[in-house]
Amino acid sequence: MKNSLIKKYSVRKLDAELFTPFTISSGSHKSMTNVLFTLEAAGGVKGYGEAAIATHITGETRERTMRSLEKAGELLSGLDAADYLGALCRLERLLEGNRAALAAAEMAVLDLATRLQGLSLWKFFGGRVPAVKTDVTVVIGGADAAYGFTKKMRARGFRIFKIKTGVDMDEDYRRLEAVRRAAPGCAVYLDANCAYSAGEAEKFIRGLMRRGITPEVVEQPVKRDDIDGLAYLSRRLPMPVCADESAYSLDDVFELIRRGAVTAVNIKLTKLGFLRAREVWALARAKGIKLMMGEMLESELASSAAAQFAAGLGGFDFIDLDTPFFIKGSGLRRPAFLSRDGVYSLDRVRAGIGVEPR
Ligand SMILES: [Mg+2]
Repeated sequence: MKNSLIKKYSVRKLDAELFTPFTISSGSHKSMTNVLFTLEAAGGVKGYGEAAIATHITGETRERTMRSLEKAGELLSGLDAADYLGALCRLERLLEGNRAALAAAEMAVLDLATRLQGLSLWKFFGGRVPAVKTDVTVVIGGADAAYGFTKKMRARGFRIFKIKTGVDMDEDYRRLEAVRRAAPGCAVYLDANCAYSAGEAEKFIRGLMRRGITPEVVEQPVKRDDIDGLAYLSRRLPMPVCADESAYSLDDVFELIRRGAVTAVNIKLTKLGFLRAREVWALARAKGIKLMMGEMLESELASSAAAQFAAGLGGFDFIDLDTPFFIKGSGLRRPAFLSRDGVYSLDRVRAGIGVEPR
């Protein structure tokens, strides 16, 4: 039997406790409740994929995602990983309505194919940038907690802080000022996760600039379908306005760019899958739109896959792949190529994504 034939698959829970709840304006993760999808080829080589469950953002549940991945496993069994593109195209059709499952299944196919080829995923996607460094997220909570967290992460070597906002403007100002005190001179990104109207967003950001804090990017200030609001803010604000929740599919992004509504897009594999994520990358680059590589609450596995996608293709302005630093152990081996200060040194990956279960 050919060594690259897909022989077995498994679907299991990938759980982890968090050091602190991951709270944003639209909801909160108290723990990580993801899914690990494993493929095994006839020669014994395995490929791993992770589905990130973020029900308060996507509406997808773990139960449904596990059922979808069982179907994906059935579909892939007997296929040849050498025709990974054929497999990805079939997965795109099967799992269109469950993007977390799509990302996981595609990740496992690509991990398997690149391991069979003795090639890192980073090289496979183009090998453009050998290392990327992530920002770190300051979640919604009190100003004192934000100060303590920022101080600690600054001492560890983080230089960019992504602040979640959108619950209460005065509290958000206090938290942002606390971050600045704890990490003077460091860059700040904002992410409101759909919290404002366009007018409120403009008022909030101008107020922040009057306090001497100018974020380098403002992510998803308005509701998902408020394209006019995004367009208004893109015209009025001096920094890039980045669509995340509004950019859930390739056609969403096509329309946002066509209408001149955004100046940046957040690519997440969990929203788009790999094939469409690459199309969004190509379209955005061609149109001069800035790019963020982002993720849901994901372990070292999916985060490293995203880092390799971004670094392989190149041209990303913002890297937001910090959730491995929020989880306690997920049962995966912490990869040696990910440092405590958030650097993914991808030229150290030998094959595939380079992350395995213990
Ligand atoms: Mg976001």
